[in-house]
Amino acid sequence: MSDEVEVPEDHPRYQSLLTRHRIEAGVEKGITSQQGLIAEGRGEAFDYLLGEETIPSAEEAERVAAAHFLLAEHPVISVNGNVAALVPEAVVDLAEATGADVEVNLFGRTEERVRAIAEHLREHGAEDVKGVTADARIPGLSHERAKVDSDGIYDADVVLVPLEDGDRAEALGEMGKTEVVIDLNPLSRSAQTATVPIIDNVVRAVPNIAAQARDLRGASREELEAIVEGFDREAALAAAERRLREGSLDRDGEAGRDGAE
Ligand code: ATP
Ligand code: MG
Repeated sequence: MSDEVEVPEDHPRYQSLLTRHRIEAGVEKGITSQQGLIAEGRGEAFDYLLGEETIPSAEEAERVAAAHFLLAEHPVISVNGNVAALVPEAVVDLAEATGADVEVNLFGRTEERVRAIAEHLREHGAEDVKGVTADARIPGLSHERAKVDSDGIYDADVVLVPLEDGDRAEALGEMGKTEVVIDLNPLSRSAQTATVPIIDNVVRAVPNIAAQARDLRGASREELEAIVEGFDREAALAAAERRLREGSLDRDGEAGRDGAE
């Protein structure tokens, strides 16, 4: 995006400023909601405490997510306004690496915003973007919030829901789907209900899952299943929470960090 050159690359908080700028541009373009701005602020605070890096437990969760995607019959990546603004290329790349569908799914759904996001994803190389038809409903949610495509999320066995709201994460889980959630807050209900909680920034997590999927492409079903079965979600959540509460803010080296996760 050309408007990103305004952020000086030598700024010590370059990545964070870039992220903020992308969200702002998303709002201007009509793909990110005002609520999305608030969500970004919450996420930034957690990311700051994590040291703005992918912690080892998250890296493992990203590999497990990739294994789930490769084992899935019908994996779907759910995209909201923040995800579309932050990582459109990475979403398209992950879909390519795993054969997943991409579906626009919004908490505050408006037809206009769904179309704008679908168009934005196509500008970044997506071929088929679902979510416009919205001819099926997730049981247990009010009408607007429940809308999905019958040949998309409704039919999926594995769904990646980055930054999902807790209620909907729970409802998808109750439909028996394997849910991979990316959320910087390990205490949020979405992370707590996920089959695979990834406590990391979407900006790092989505490209990491794609890289892991490419790395695992030659793996057998048995190997992939072993990766999935070896995952301990409680331990991953606990490791992230420990890092948030006890990790040092000393940015001058690993020495200041609690390496215990
Ligand atoms: P709760 O789940 O605790 O009920 P909520 O889901 O209602 O809270 P929101 O502010 O809507 O609260 O949630 C936004 C969530 O998305 C926060 O948990 C925040 O940490 C997370 N988040 C925001 N930006 C990112 C990002 N770039 N990468 C990963 N997670 C993010
Ligand atoms: Mg949440």
